[in-house]
Amino acid sequence: MTDLNDIKKSQKVVIMGSGPAGLTSALYTARANLEPVVFEGMEAGGQLTLTTDVENFPGFPNGILGPELMDAMRKQAERFGAKCVQRSITSVDFSAKPFKIRVDETEIETDTFIIASGASAKMLGIESEKLLLGHGVSTCATCDGFFFKDKELIVVGGGDSAVEEGIFLTKFASKVNIVHRRDELRASKILQERAFKNPKINFIWDSEVEEVLGDMESGVKGVMLKNSKTGDVSEKEAQGVFIAIGHNPNTELFKGKLEMDGPGYLITKNGSTETSVPGVFAAGDVQDTKYRQAITAAGSGCMAAMDAEKYLEDQGE
Ligand SMILES: Cc1cc2nc3c(=O)[nH]c(=O)nc-3n(C[C@H](O)[C@H](O)[C@H](O)COP(=O)(O)OP(=O)(O)OC[C@H]3O[C@@H](n4cnc5c(N)ncnc54)[C@H](O)[C@@H]3O)c2cc1C
Repeated sequence: MTDLNDIKKSQKVVIMGSGPAGLTSALYTARANLEPVVFEGMEAGGQLTLTTDVENFPGFPNGILGPELMDAMRKQAERFGAKCVQRSITSVDFSAKPFKIRVDETEIETDTFIIASGASAKMLGIESEKLLLGHGVSTCATCDGFFFKDKELIVVGGGDSAVEEGIFLTKFASKVNIVHRRDELRASKILQERAFKNPKINFIWDSEVEEVLGDMESGVKGVMLKNSKTGDVSEKEAQGVFIAIGHNPNTELFKGKLEMDGPGYLITKNGSTETSVPGVFAAGDVQDTKYRQAITAAGSGCMAAMDAEKYLEDQGE
């Protein structure tokens, strides 16, 4: 860990975020002798620190705990000279070069900037889901579906991702209950038809999850549901809860400064990590509306590092 006061105020590469994308960018740029600085943000290690077992990151035949994997990634980048600072970037100025990055009162200039600030899953906003995240509550069916063989599940949401995740989860689960607060889905017609035909899927309409029941030792036991029309409260048994109500890309700082899509994902160009400002690159979930996996984030972190390196070379740096 490096103190903010100990880093040079003029850098070649500054990286925003310390998830798999940011730390892989750090590893590659450090090994290219670019001495990167990583601002880790509020969630040092990124989203994987919120989970327990990660079984789909290659290289770990017995799986690895999320926080352990991220600790190893940070140490690997630091071994080659990356500096990790546990602070958040508070503003950016791309109007002139070098770019100006601020961390509260401190200003740092940088020739390139890699954004790897992730996309946070939207949550219901109840205490029990926070407590049980990684202990039966999940935001990612691809990541965690395998842990729920022959279990009964709840999927919360009514859009494409909820229905897609519900259908995917029927490969493992004995039954999938899709809980939606309205009486019709927002998902595309084709997905709806597929879901209605699937014998393992049950819809619970006009309902909201009020509470997730269970504890960290034994996991999820069920949910408390409230009917949004009648106000009736009931309990539904289940061993897992998947929240599928969308993601918020962490791109507030870049509004009006970089091209982004409707929900706020950064737009990258030509199959690379280039954003609309040359010298600014985006990697990982912050620019990924589709895959959002640790390995794809790490892969695009590598791409961003190589793109930044090439950019610096072309600038004659
Ligand atoms: C509970 C859970 C379980 C998961 N399980 C798996 C799994 O088993 N396998 C798998 O492949 N994927 C899994 N995922 C998905 C995976 O975690 C993400 O796809 C991956 O972490 C994305 O990496 P990233 O580097 O793009 O962003 P993130 O990991 O989201 O990291 C974003 C980083 O940006 C930082 N940041 C944000 N704002 C600022 C700022 N202003 N200044 C500085 N830094 C900032 C944050 O502090 C954080 O360090 C899971 C996700 C969750 C939530």
